[in-house]
Amino acid sequence: MMPRMEDIQVVVMMGGVGSRLGEIVTNCPKPMLPVGSALPGLPDSLGDNRNIDSRIETESVDGIPFFEYELRLLFVAGFRKFLFCTGYLSEEIEGYFGGGEKFGVDIMHQKDSQDSDGNAVLLGTGGALRHAYPKLEEDFLLVYADSFMDIDYREVVYRYFEAKESGALSLMTLLHNGGRFDTSNVIYRDGRLVLYDKNNVSPDMDYIDYGVNMFSRSLLDDYADGEKFDLAVIQHELSLKGQLAGLVVTRRFYEIGRPEPYREFIDYTRDRFETPRKAAFLDRDGVLNEIVYNEDTELLDSPMRPDELRLIDGAAEAVTRLKGAGYYVFIVTNQPAAAKGKTSLGQIFDINKKLKELIPEIDEVFVCLHHPKGSEHSRERNLIGECRCRKPKTGLIDEARAKYAIDIERSFMAGDSYTDVQCGKAAGVQTVFIGDYKCDVCARLKYNKPEIVAGSLAEAVNILIEQ
Ligand SMILES: [Mg+2]
Repeated sequence: MMPRMEDIQVVVMMGGVGSRLGEIVTNCPKPMLPVGSALPGLPDSLGDNRNIDSRIETESVDGIPFFEYELRLLFVAGFRKFLFCTGYLSEEIEGYFGGGEKFGVDIMHQKDSQDSDGNAVLLGTGGALRHAYPKLEEDFLLVYADSFMDIDYREVVYRYFEAKESGALSLMTLLHNGGRFDTSNVIYRDGRLVLYDKNNVSPDMDYIDYGVNMFSRSLLDDYADGEKFDLAVIQHELSLKGQLAGLVVTRRFYEIGRPEPYREFIDYTRDRFETPRKAAFLDRDGVLNEIVYNEDTELLDSPMRPDELRLIDGAAEAVTRLKGAGYYVFIVTNQPAAAKGKTSLGQIFDINKKLKELIPEIDEVFVCLHHPKGSEHSRERNLIGECRCRKPKTGLIDEARAKYAIDIERSFMAGDSYTDVQCGKAAGVQTVFIGDYKCDVCARLKYNKPEIVAGSLAEAVNILIEQ
């Protein structure tokens, strides 16, 4: 079962000295290295009514620290509980992030071991984590503060707990490498992580560990506080026993271990977070892919498995045209089938991955997995109930706005349901109704008509790009 994201602890390894950065880090720990000057403000719907610092929308700041970008991703993914494991210049990090109030999260700090003179004792990643043992929860997400990793964290958490039911104690995210980044160190075959070995690389390894992991705290039980060891040893042993689950991710990461990628990330954030672009918010079913006729229920429904996903003719080309016209393309879709017990969450994640394979130009898929009533057949009790993201609510658009600089007035929402139009209206974007504008739809949208009605996304894009 999918836990609530706010119940999952995120442990952040922040103790590194960053020696490969040379002079840049003399007075500044890596996670605090200044990057850009603005992050999009956080829409109210994401804030849990906490005292979030919204200075960012109106004012520029002199260098947002590197880790604040990753914290933003984790916040939007729903995480609220953090443990920062700090070492080098820890007071700088504590001074800035504090208890997390400004960021809408709770942050605890754990300092690395020190000797009697107050100097840090380097214990390796495993030793540093073991030192934090009393503050660790039973299962936790582990990330490194020198990386920006924009992936679907809900799937990471879900796949870990799924694998745990068959004996896994950790999950490692993997990136197909092909020599692009560091040396490959993982064999992944037929959907399984077969071997992880950082110290004995072999030619059949073509994946690398991506840097996001889930761990069971019990893996540290046999180590003593103060013992020096690398987490890679635990992960290698787990892989030999078939207890290290693997999850392949596709989006590239940014890291700031060296000066060149640090500069690259500065350029990237300028484009993504500081240069507003118009966005196309697209509903999925009935807009990009066909609705499926279910023979058992005799109803039309969303695809329940990846092999049921069929693109509508012209949909992929329409996305290409939108990209060519300078739009971000975001999918905003309600997928309550797991909450209703009609399919598994794993299938929903897989369908959206297949959609991105078929239309790689999609920038990101934002999904509401909830359903207000659910059903008695559902295993996913945590997805049942009111949420902030189910359309016609604007939560999914708000997530996009927290992750990208978006020119909302030049953006639009297109969908084949009246709730899509209502959602777009509430978010303040232009609205496009796709399909037959039937009487029931016009009755519901009487005072809130879409600006454009079109037979298909392709037709809508013709109208929009002509405008
Ligand atoms: Mg639809």
